[in-house]
Amino acid sequence: APVPPPARHLFSDPAEVEALRGNLLAWYDRCKRDLPWRTLAATEPDADRRGYAVWVSEIMLQQTQVATVIDYYNRWMQKWPTLQALAQASLEEVNELWAGLGYYSRGKRLQEAASKVVSELAGRMPRRAEDLQKLLPGVGRYTAGAIASISYGQATGVVDGNVIRVLCRLRCIGADSSSQAVIDRLWDMANVLVDRSRPGDFNQALMELGATVCVPKAPLCRECPVKQHCQAWHRKLFGNTPPVPDVEDCGVGDCPLCPPATEPWESSLGVTNFPRKAGKKPPRAMRTATCVLERRGCHGALEYLIVQRPSSGLLAGLWEFPSLPLAQDLQEEKEREELADHLQAWMGRHVAAKGLQFIGEVIHIFSHIHQTYVVYSLHLDGDVTLDPALSPSRWVTEDEFHASAVSTAMKKV
Ligand code: SF4
Repeated sequence: APVPPPARHLFSDPAEVEALRGNLLAWYDRCKRDLPWRTLAATEPDADRRGYAVWVSEIMLQQTQVATVIDYYNRWMQKWPTLQALAQASLEEVNELWAGLGYYSRGKRLQEAASKVVSELAGRMPRRAEDLQKLLPGVGRYTAGAIASISYGQATGVVDGNVIRVLCRLRCIGADSSSQAVIDRLWDMANVLVDRSRPGDFNQALMELGATVCVPKAPLCRECPVKQHCQAWHRKLFGNTPPVPDVEDCGVGDCPLCPPATEPWESSLGVTNFPRKAGKKPPRAMRTATCVLERRGCHGALEYLIVQRPSSGLLAGLWEFPSLPLAQDLQEEKEREELADHLQAWMGRHVAAKGLQFIGEVIHIFSHIHQTYVVYSLHLDGDVTLDPALSPSRWVTEDEFHASAVSTAMKKV
């Protein structure tokens, strides 16, 4: 049976919870950043439109910095101001607008979910977190909680990376913060803490605190509105003394939330002792040969061939220069030959490996892949007929290339 967590890791004093809520909300009212989705959520009288506006922002903000998202968000809301408008959009249009934002399946699933709301739910967004998570593709527990609390006022907590950091520090949680046991405990805590009358503001305040004050490397504890409730801060200032009980109070070494006995509190790290994570798997290394095929178009401008990727998997439906994944330890000559064979299949005519001009290598890091593109180019004279049985392809000018649904990696190439 799971060991119940010791009191030191909980918020069990209602007076403390009340004080923490008040301090955090007062700080948020004074210091919150002005962001377009916040303005929309606060001023939009129509509940469905509000839900949609928050939903789009939450999906865009997954794994992406606020500063990057703002421009994409504004353009998206201008183009598809409602769920109904988004439901009519094509994947091509969505990919074009999303180009450069990364994690492309997010945009695709957002569009699919909008179509589902329109066709199966009579255009009405579900209002409760449980229903949002159950009914909308791509909406997980965090996003569902954020939409329900911010747009519809449901008193439900949220746990994202920022909240994990803040809560682990507030309650000295040093067990692996990516483990299910810790995540479950943090969700319980977030649901206890959330302010009943201003749940959306409270959740945003907790995340804002993590994003601007309780940051990963050098948190601004002296300016923190909840420092008097923070056990990590207390421990940094006073050592491991009351009101923070001794670590032994946590069940002599088998507390499920304390740091492992082999990696105890490290004074020089201060509050950044928390949170802790088990080591991450290193990204997988991949090599891909890619060829920029160019020709002189009928108006004299240079044109480049781009082809469409399959509609599922990494970078689904995006356009790229003809590319071929390579085995890791191939000799350069062999790489060239394989790429030439690949191009030959496209063009139905002989491509000499020696004719491919090596340009250089481009490295791009996807979340779990360390990708090296080995870049070649080839100038074609005369007309080229591409095999229509292969993936869709088209010739584009440089400007058209930049306006197409191509990934950041291909723009680097
Ligand atoms: Fe984070 Fe420091 Fe505030 Fe604690 S006092 S919540 S560690 S910023």
